[in-house]
Amino acid sequence: MSDLTTETLQEYDRKYVWHPFTQMKEWEAEPPLVISKGEGSWLIDSDGNRYLDGVGAIWTNVHGHCHPHINNAIKEQVDRLEHSTLLGLASEKPSILAKKLIEIAPEGLSKVFYSDNGSTAVEIGIKMAFQYWRHLGRAEKSKFISFKNAYHGDTVGAMSVGGVDIFHEVFRPLLFPTIQAPSTCCYRCELCLEQDSSRCNRECLAELERIMETHAHEVAGLIIEPLVQGAGGMIVQPDGFIRRVRELCSRFDILMIADEVAVGFGRTGTMFACNRESVTPDIMALSKGITAGYLPLAATLTTQKVYDAFLGEYSELKTFFHGHTFTGNPIACAAALASLELFERESLLKNLSSKIEVLQARLNAMIELKHVGDIRQCGMIAGIELVRDKGTKEPYNWVDRVGMSVCREARKHGIFLRPLGNVIVIFPPLSVSIEELNFLMDGVQKSILAVTEHPEDI
Ligand SMILES: *Cc1c(COP(=O)(O)O)cnc(C)c1O
Repeated sequence: MSDLTTETLQEYDRKYVWHPFTQMKEWEAEPPLVISKGEGSWLIDSDGNRYLDGVGAIWTNVHGHCHPHINNAIKEQVDRLEHSTLLGLASEKPSILAKKLIEIAPEGLSKVFYSDNGSTAVEIGIKMAFQYWRHLGRAEKSKFISFKNAYHGDTVGAMSVGGVDIFHEVFRPLLFPTIQAPSTCCYRCELCLEQDSSRCNRECLAELERIMETHAHEVAGLIIEPLVQGAGGMIVQPDGFIRRVRELCSRFDILMIADEVAVGFGRTGTMFACNRESVTPDIMALSKGITAGYLPLAATLTTQKVYDAFLGEYSELKTFFHGHTFTGNPIACAAALASLELFERESLLKNLSSKIEVLQARLNAMIELKHVGDIRQCGMIAGIELVRDKGTKEPYNWVDRVGMSVCREARKHGIFLRPLGNVIVIFPPLSVSIEELNFLMDGVQKSILAVTEHPEDI
């Protein structure tokens, strides 16, 4: 433990750390909360205050903070081998983990390419799909279909297939162009506002089909966040959507890349979101939950068919020329293996259904609130969208930062949250107890009420 005072830690932070997705002028104006410990679903600050971790360490935490089983697996691995490389060497833990991932992945995925974060897992998927068609002698298939509101990471390739204007627009000149399909149920178009989102979804799919009819000959792959568009605002797709996308990709000979970085590892109630509709993508990107929130690790899974296209004589240059220094780090792989053991040992997926029901009941009660415009849930993910006018769904101006104010208020109730604009995100560790979940939702409800209905009392 550090024996520095909270004030000193705050000073070091403000003096030296540049925070992600943060207006630092605002950050510097106030002393930050400094987290020094974690315990189950809780974060503990440098003054000993406890906060329920409502965003699961930014969507990564599965079994709670500092779980003894994962802690021990990491400690054991540190004393065996901290890192070698997968460039020219095999390694114990990455081999065992790859076998395990293929066992639990949708049927038909058979190879694992490691990296160390969600953005790189996506970049690898894009590069793989691109190079695949070159090896097949169809270099004209070089473009990508992506979705409006999609988020696939912050590196240049991953941003190129992204569709959240507020993050991506400034970088547009740097990005490669994609063919953008409309987002699934957008909650904003006229059809959705008239409560006919199923028609909106049908029209989105019809538009996707038209895009494919026109462009399939030049398209390498389609990239989708299955079931839920995360950073775009927790936008939940209707039943059957990814199954239909899979059918269209197959029909038009387009590789389907499923970005399960946020939704993988139990988050939506099944091990992977694709499992829900028995979909096997051609390429699947995994990261956030893979080490249960412990260490950076990512994996891009693909099929034998894609892999085989890269086989050839060395001189043919069919090699997949890509690799990161910490690819398949053994300590991270040991954490991932220990996490998967816990999934089995604690029947985690089976036990999730009662928590998902409690979350749903609590959310249903909140739809009555005056400034709650929409509530979206998929498994243990929820997004509560706050609006200025419930009738017209007129949004709050994003510069009003109502979402941020609610999350600030929640700290008074012992809860840590991080919004997406004016969407309050609920993404607790999957190990959260029903009692903790109720505590979380009590605090969320009180905070929304205080900020949107009784701001004079704050
Ligand atoms: C977070 C996220 C990424 C990017 O992962 P990083 O580890 O932050 O690079 C990619 N895709 C989805 C769906 C994500 O939620």
